[in-house]
Amino acid sequence: MLTIKDLTVKVSNKTILENFNLEIKEGEIHALMGKNGAGKSTISKVLLRDLDYTVTHGLITYQNKDLLKLNTTEVAQLGFYLVSQNPIEIDGITNAELIRCALNEQGKKDLNILELNNKLKKYCEKLEIPTSFIHRNINYNMSGGEKKKMELLHIWMLEPKMIILDEIDSGLDVDALKIVANALLEYHKQFKPSLLIITHQQKLLEILKPDKVHILENKKVTQTGDLSLAKKIFENGFSRATLMANGEKNE
Ligand code: ADP
Ligand code: MG
Repeated sequence: MLTIKDLTVKVSNKTILENFNLEIKEGEIHALMGKNGAGKSTISKVLLRDLDYTVTHGLITYQNKDLLKLNTTEVAQLGFYLVSQNPIEIDGITNAELIRCALNEQGKKDLNILELNNKLKKYCEKLEIPTSFIHRNINYNMSGGEKKKMELLHIWMLEPKMIILDEIDSGLDVDALKIVANALLEYHKQFKPSLLIITHQQKLLEILKPDKVHILENKKVTQTGDLSLAKKIFENGFSRATLMANGEKNE
């Protein structure tokens, strides 16, 4: 279980999150929504231990471990995977090389090259990725949508247990969004990871059916509900939904 308690986060001396609380149990799917600049990407970066984001108060535990004492590598070794809003391009390292290296790190050294290639090809087909991409440099010269699909390929290969998806829908056309969402759903059914989905996309949430939906506002989670809360946001926008939640008269 992931527990974030009373978190305050500063970046460049500006407080971005304050009294931020969130709890995600094993296998649960949570969605985090909020206006641009609310601090959604910030929480994803804190979880992956980006030290530009300073935690000045509060705690984060995962499976009873103090996450704030760990570095990014150690967090990844615990099974965290972040699909960032803008996946970076790494020239000079192919997807196959990175995946093989990461699997070795996980102690799965016994996977031979043939098995690895077969697995990669199988998942490329599932995600409708050309198999030639396996040997291309990581995200290099790929479109926004292709990058997101490649991240999904890495997820299927590395089998993370806590996945954070920061606006995975951005850059995806309607067909790619369906492929990505259904692949995520299938992955969830098979491996039961926890998911934290940061999104503005109704379709994605309709397919993934989160257990809980949280609204990030004024530096903290101000509302938690189910898919109907997300629907309220899609229909009325953040300001209107907030007013209604606070019991204001609906004009
Ligand atoms: P969201 O993902 O909800 O759109 P972010 O978490 O990216 O929002 O950003 C929250 C706020 O923190 C914004 O005002 C943003 O400008 C600021 N911020 C984020 N990262 C940095 C940084 N590295 N340096 C300075 N300001 C930052
Ligand atoms: Mg963001």
